Amino acid sequence: MSFPPTRERETQELIKRFQAKRARQRRVRLVLAGVVCLVVAAAVLTAVAVAGSDEGGGSAFSSSVTSAPNSAPPTSPRQEAAVAVGVTTTSTAGSATTSTGKTTTTTDKTTTGDTAIPTTSGGPATTSSTTTTSTAKTPSTETTATVAPASSAKVVVIDPGHQAQGDSSLEPVGPGASEKKAKVSSGTAGVVTGIPESELTLAVGLKLRDALKAHGIKVVMTRTSQNVNISNSARAKIANEAHADLFVRIHADGSDNSSTNGIHVLYPVSIKGWTDDIAGASKKAASLAQQALIAATGAKDRGIDARSDMTGFNWSDVPVFLPEIGFMTNPAEDQLLASGAYRDKIVKGMTQAILQYLGLK
Ligand SMILES: [Zn+2]
Repeated sequence: MSFPPTRERETQELIKRFQAKRARQRRVRLVLAGVVCLVVAAAVLTAVAVAGSDEGGGSAFSSSVTSAPNSAPPTSPRQEAAVAVGVTTTSTAGSATTSTGKTTTTTDKTTTGDTAIPTTSGGPATTSSTTTTSTAKTPSTETTATVAPASSAKVVVIDPGHQAQGDSSLEPVGPGASEKKAKVSSGTAGVVTGIPESELTLAVGLKLRDALKAHGIKVVMTRTSQNVNISNSARAKIANEAHADLFVRIHADGSDNSSTNGIHVLYPVSIKGWTDDIAGASKKAASLAQQALIAATGAKDRGIDARSDMTGFNWSDVPVFLPEIGFMTNPAEDQLLASGAYRDKIVKGMTQAILQYLGLK
């Protein structure tokens, strides 16, 4: 069958146009494939770079641990205990030393390079899920906080003491200890206001968080609500895993004597294998806090106290202090502590002390 010449020419043109179109499509596909290759290559290079810095961090951990002024005691109760309670991740020996060993600020800086995470305020769960997005080092995630703060920022963990309801089940007072204490008590309460200590410490803790964040400090809260159940050792572990530069445990006091009033700050006594590596720095922070709190509030100065019996101190691998911000059993002080203005004074004093301690002022 033959087409008239004009039909044939039209057919030829159609075929040419069709072929040209196919060629264009091939070129487009080639270009697209090229672009995809480039994107994949860039992603791989980035991943390699990140993994490389993690490894660098890992080796820095071991070197910082070996060069730490206080090496672990022969029996190393903290290491055993830390493994037993599952503080470590399943990844490598390197990360195991990070959480069990005596971390110093050097270690903090090596870990901080990984991810720039916005300041955490939502508690441990949020932070650990964010960290999983970083490449190496996080093959498994623990339930407690793992924080990778921005490179230069200092990290402060704030623990508002107690919680709505205490938990009288027991836990060891320190790593490997046979002596046990209640996991967390419900605290005291305002003799006039009826405000529970846990509510006061949370309100002050949240104010302190905001004040520190305003100074560029990364803040991790052990809790931001009343209805939690976090033992004192678990709170210390949150601070350890956050590689906190400072761990601040806010409490208020109670006494049988309603005339007793004033502020004092507690810090850990040096116990070999537990707190010997943090006692000095903790005492320094406690002294600064005591001075600044008295100056800011005008409260009675009750001085600082070294304590050996506090679970939240004995489990801590980072410098820690505990301000007892006043006596809720003293009518006048209870009412002061209930006021926003007085809470602001407390926060002002503590912020000043923390900035001083961290060398930011
Ligand atoms: Zn308390």
